[in-house]
Amino acid sequence: MTTSHILGFPRVGAKRELKFAEERYWRKEITEQELLDLAKTLREKNWQYQSQANADFVSVGDFTFYDHILDLQVATGAIPARFGFDSQNLTLDQYFQLARGNKDQFAIEMTKWFDTNYHYLVPEFHPNTEFKANATHYVNQIREAKAAGHTVKPVIVGPLTFLFLGKEKGNWAISSAEKANDKATTAKLAIQAISQKSTNTRLDLLPQLLPVYQEILTTISAEGVEWVQIDEPILALDLAPEWLAAFETVYSKLSSINAKILLATYFGSVAEHAPLLKALPVDGLHLDLVRSPEQLASFTDYHKVLSAGVIEGRNIWRANLTQILDVLEPLKEKLGERLWIAPSCSLLHTPFDLNIETQLKENKPDLYSWLAFTRQKVEELNILKQALTNCRASVNAQLEESNKAAESRANSKVIHKAEVTERLANLPANADQRQSPFAERIVKQNAWLNLPLLPTTTIGSFPQTNEIRQARAAFKKGALSLEDYENAMKKEIELVVREQEKLDLDVLVHGEAERNDMVEYFGELLDGFAFTKFGWVQSYGSRCVKPPVIYGDVTRPKPMTVRWSQYAQSLTSKVMKGMLTGPVTILQWSFVRNDIPRSTVCKQIGVALSDEVLDLERAGIKVIQIDEPAIREGLPLKRSDWGNYLQWAGESFRLSSMGVQDDTQIHTHMCYSEFNDILPAIAALDADVITIETSRSDMELLNAFIDFHYPNDIGPGVYDIHSPRVPTEEEIAHLLQKALKVVPKERLWVNPDCGLKTRGWKETLEQLEVMMKVTKKLRVELKA
Ligand code: GLN
Ligand code: ZN
Repeated sequence: MTTSHILGFPRVGAKRELKFAEERYWRKEITEQELLDLAKTLREKNWQYQSQANADFVSVGDFTFYDHILDLQVATGAIPARFGFDSQNLTLDQYFQLARGNKDQFAIEMTKWFDTNYHYLVPEFHPNTEFKANATHYVNQIREAKAAGHTVKPVIVGPLTFLFLGKEKGNWAISSAEKANDKATTAKLAIQAISQKSTNTRLDLLPQLLPVYQEILTTISAEGVEWVQIDEPILALDLAPEWLAAFETVYSKLSSINAKILLATYFGSVAEHAPLLKALPVDGLHLDLVRSPEQLASFTDYHKVLSAGVIEGRNIWRANLTQILDVLEPLKEKLGERLWIAPSCSLLHTPFDLNIETQLKENKPDLYSWLAFTRQKVEELNILKQALTNCRASVNAQLEESNKAAESRANSKVIHKAEVTERLANLPANADQRQSPFAERIVKQNAWLNLPLLPTTTIGSFPQTNEIRQARAAFKKGALSLEDYENAMKKEIELVVREQEKLDLDVLVHGEAERNDMVEYFGELLDGFAFTKFGWVQSYGSRCVKPPVIYGDVTRPKPMTVRWSQYAQSLTSKVMKGMLTGPVTILQWSFVRNDIPRSTVCKQIGVALSDEVLDLERAGIKVIQIDEPAIREGLPLKRSDWGNYLQWAGESFRLSSMGVQDDTQIHTHMCYSEFNDILPAIAALDADVITIETSRSDMELLNAFIDFHYPNDIGPGVYDIHSPRVPTEEEIAHLLQKALKVVPKERLWVNPDCGLKTRGWKETLEQLEVMMKVTKKLRVELKA
């Protein structure tokens, strides 16, 4: 027999039932009991799907009302003390307050879970954080699943990943000085604290945390559990030696519990740690063989349970089961019963059920046959299990079908377009380079642009009002004709143009009223993209996203934005900036085909966008912004892979404006100023102007400019658009003065931090007025 299991299941339900129930609960439209009942039903279904597919265990503990790292904060007692809650007796309302904030406390910060689009709640560790075990979350789910007749495998994130993912708050150096209790050390450490070189880290909390984990796991084991899955995904990162060394300590301690431990790694190779991992006193190891199939070679001599993660847990493509069996069968020969099979990681990152995509099935039957969502993946696992346990012949029909799908995908004319491959292969050597260097281009641009010192602009979108959304919804439903819809958008564009003229901004935008979402909008107009109806994946808490599916070679059949930009330009004598989403961002926020390298898909999108850029240029739109807010989040988990990524990401971006004239000005925009470590790559994008989010961090980014002279024009955001608060003149002046210390005045632009679509009109106008007022004053001062 070959054991099969999954690492975790999506929580929100096939049609986002949990999301809707939670939102109703928050609005007090349903009771706590109703929400609890719905959650129970969802869990029951999730377990049924797993056991119907012959999984040997169902995963428990993975279900959460908000986030599994928040659950762990509760289970270890490490919820932020600032809330004043008792983790042992936390109510559901208090749980949600931790996640969403309350009138006194801001919510626990969120950040991306590794390189996925899921966000976890970041633990706040203080030097004096106290831990206390509370296994209720796990025990309840174990009992519930057992009562329903399932064999369970609890899933919990391990202590090292938990500590690693947290943030150090409070003063770590001082506190250890206090512990040291001698004046000289106190003084020394206080100085270190001031220069922010704390010698202590959250890893120092391990001795206190470990017994609490032991207690939780002992309680869990006592529920009659044979296996526990402990996730340590940090093993796929570049880990400092002290973190690596701690694995030995931790797992020697935890091995004392009664249950067996399956140590789960995912999102990358752990081959470099093979000797360490093989020596750990755990009972099994899970490897992500989709992300890095080659790491298997380093573990074939493992003498305990090896769980092979062979079904892609982060994408939506149907597996090629025959190919997978070609790898698994020899492994089965070697390992026998010690071979387990599983998806590569938790299925939390894939949509729930392909079966309900009836529209897709009808309109794109080929594509439909190439896909597998969570439920289908669990079934695929079952087929593999049967093949390994009995023989391939026992699942002949299913393998046949899988082969057929793979074949049709490999040969599909809808996916593979010779003209796209040829165009990419035959790009001239310097296709991604502008005709002249920036220094020459900017002279030609300034000649016609004729902008004042410190030119002002915005990032693209203006408030997406309810009327705009309603018009779009009505149009989609067929209640509004195309003509009426377009007229409504034109009216909005005119309003946006007039307001910008009143404000006296220098480079105007059309406001992006016609766009629902900056990626979806382009996905709908490019060939090679498809959309699902229920392909939701959890982004955080009750929020889900529905990424477009890039399934084929990408082309741009006809202009996408030209008419809108042209219309906007026709309304004003000021310069109108064209607005596009860049190739890296489109790639990053989509489900991407896995039959060719991501880099190739990205370049295809870049080339397709260049058609749009040239059409805009021809139409007289000669300032064009290509947004890349997602460039940073695409960085690989391991630093050694950064160079390669940045190379193709940069090339794709540059390709998107290939062939433009020197006097056409290319702008780009990025969110989050954490660029200090990749500034050379950002500079290598060679955009004439970059606008960038910096206001929340008090222009911290600019510190890096002291060492690295960013060569082109730059507009560091001068106020935070995430808040309705109107900044004072002093605040904006302070930020601009700071910027002027490191950016020559001729190269500095003035703009908000990001697009304005989430703001209301009132504050938007007030905020921009302050920005303009300060800029005008400063212009006079700088000329004097
Ligand atoms: N042009 C986009 C906008 O203004 C940019 C959004 C973003 O940076 N995420 O909305
Ligand atoms: Zn932005």
